[in-house]
Amino acid sequence: MELFKYGYMEAKIATELNISQQNVNGIIKSACNKMSDEYHMNWLELQYRNNIGMKLKKCANCNLKKPAINDFFRYNAEKKDELSSKCIKCEEKY
Ligand SMILES: [Zn+2]
Repeated sequence: MELFKYGYMEAKIATELNISQQNVNGIIKSACNKMSDEYHMNWLELQYRNNIGMKLKKCANCNLKKPAINDFFRYNAEKKDELSSKCIKCEEKY
């Protein structure tokens, strides 16, 4: 049922936007990947937050405290803690 709905939507979007269904498949696929990435990062962040021993680092841009690991801050050899002062999410915006 879910697959049927999914397939129907793709065909409908393709017709309405006048683009190939393969194109639509690609767009939906990348959107889904992005969403699951986002979900995964939120989940990961929650796990680390619940872990009391985890060191947190405040982002210089959004001021959010995030785990001081490379999943959230890029590696930066110039920094004392070897982590970029901005979180990955903020860096990706620019
Ligand atoms: Zn940030």
